[in-house]
Amino acid sequence: MKLVIATSNAHKVQEIREILQPLGIEVLGAAEVGGMPDVVEDGDTFEANAIKKAVAGAQAFHCPVMADDSGLEVLALGGAPGIYSARYAGEGGNDGRNLAKLLANLEGVTDRRAQFVCAIAVANADGTIRGTVRGECKGVMDTAPRGTGGFGYDPAFIPDGYDKTFGELPAEVKNRLSHRGNALKAAVKELFSNAE
Ligand code: IMP
Repeated sequence: MKLVIATSNAHKVQEIREILQPLGIEVLGAAEVGGMPDVVEDGDTFEANAIKKAVAGAQAFHCPVMADDSGLEVLALGGAPGIYSARYAGEGGNDGRNLAKLLANLEGVTDRRAQFVCAIAVANADGTIRGTVRGECKGVMDTAPRGTGGFGYDPAFIPDGYDKTFGELPAEVKNRLSHRGNALKAAVKELFSNAE
């Protein structure tokens, strides 16, 4: 089967291709089939946003489409920034401002538990949903950013079992533990185990 990934991020497409190609799935980026249509990500869960992107892609490309949506949930903040992770510091914000706002909101907070979450949705060629899966990566928030690796909230996220942030740890370690990798593994098992 042919599968389009609803992203313009070539890096994500390559990562997914390496995992799905051996299963006989031909993986294409949205850019290779005319580009992603605009989608308003106003769902109230990661899954709802992933479904919106997957369905919009299937309707535009008339083939199966995989989409993901991800973010960081901090327990002591009731799950914030959650689905608002990319725009936590408001419109015109950026990774640095988002992280600074989060660390300011966590000042003096002793329960630092957090998790990265990634939902993946796959839509069939006719726009119906084949299914959704979720991957998580649990850890704690540091009090200040450390390291220059990764992106987003990585410099202040210490994954369980480690004493360094994703900003300090090698990319291979992050890729092995990551919410996206875990979601992709779940997708392979639950959504593509009998791909034709
Ligand atoms: P997206 O769904 O991949 O566009 O990610 C949404 C937002 O969640 C990003 O802008 C980041 O703020 C945050 N995020 C998602 N994945 C990661 C990650 O692996 N590390 C750090 N931040 C992440």
